[in-house]
Amino acid sequence: MTTIPPFEVLPRDLSAYRAGNTGVPYVHRFDSGRPGPHVLVNALTHGNEFCGMVAACHLLDTGVRPQIGTLTVSFANVEAYESFDPARPFESRQLVHNLNRIWSEAWLDGPEQSPELRRARELRPVVAAADHILDIHSTSNPVQPFWVYPAFARNGHTTQAIGRPAVHLVMPQGLGSGTPLVQHGLHGTPGHHGTAVVVECGQHFAHATGALATEVALDFLAHFGLVARERTAPPAPAQRYELLQTVVVQTPGFRFTRPLLGFETFGPHELVATDGEREIRAPEGGCTVLMPTRAPVVGREGVYLARALH
Ligand SMILES: [Zn+2]
Repeated sequence: MTTIPPFEVLPRDLSAYRAGNTGVPYVHRFDSGRPGPHVLVNALTHGNEFCGMVAACHLLDTGVRPQIGTLTVSFANVEAYESFDPARPFESRQLVHNLNRIWSEAWLDGPEQSPELRRARELRPVVAAADHILDIHSTSNPVQPFWVYPAFARNGHTTQAIGRPAVHLVMPQGLGSGTPLVQHGLHGTPGHHGTAVVVECGQHFAHATGALATEVALDFLAHFGLVARERTAPPAPAQRYELLQTVVVQTPGFRFTRPLLGFETFGPHELVATDGEREIRAPEGGCTVLMPTRAPVVGREGVYLARALH
């Protein structure tokens, strides 16, 4: 698939948000002065996922302030975001490392250097300080929006209470290809109290994706009592998927057996992709594929195999 979707949203200049008020660039914090949870709304973990930028700018530009607790709004990988090239719009996802796979102590305390590792180390105290985290993302392909989160009851409770998007991808074993931001530190442990979830809001460059990201961010703040908000619609019945396997591309020959956008189903043992000599087949019970890569890159995720939960 080489077609590039239309750019309904393009990067805007974020220099006005650089200074922030926390000492960490692009991080803004508002303390209500009253007891309550500390909620982090994080944008641009991936540089070309503009919807988080739209939502974060909305919160800052409209002067949203918490009535209880503390609100932090952050733009994560601005360096990758600023490298956006309309001729290669998928390249600015990351510069070197995937900023959403390096939140383990091994990476953060390790010796390697990259723009993403530098930024993750800078953001580490910001992420660790939050009780509840909404990490806003979007998808390469135009598919229905969905939540993604580790299978802790607290995450399921919050996302189902918010009710949109209605689709949930739950990760009982984590991601399998690194540590995402929402699993950093205590947020990756069973005993913690805080919700930490990803929301995938639609296709990267679509206007509707930014609009949904803004709504979900406000819903998330309202759920924890930081803002008052009328519920616009009753929660839709949840449609839940469980991540079975994260397939990482091993060879430049990685190919799907048919064009995939996401949410296609495969029967038991059906061939999903080939990767050199390796065959990637659906598990015994069949599967639903999520987030198939547009352009395979060795060492990055090729596709997620999930099963529908009933
Ligand atoms: Zn993303």
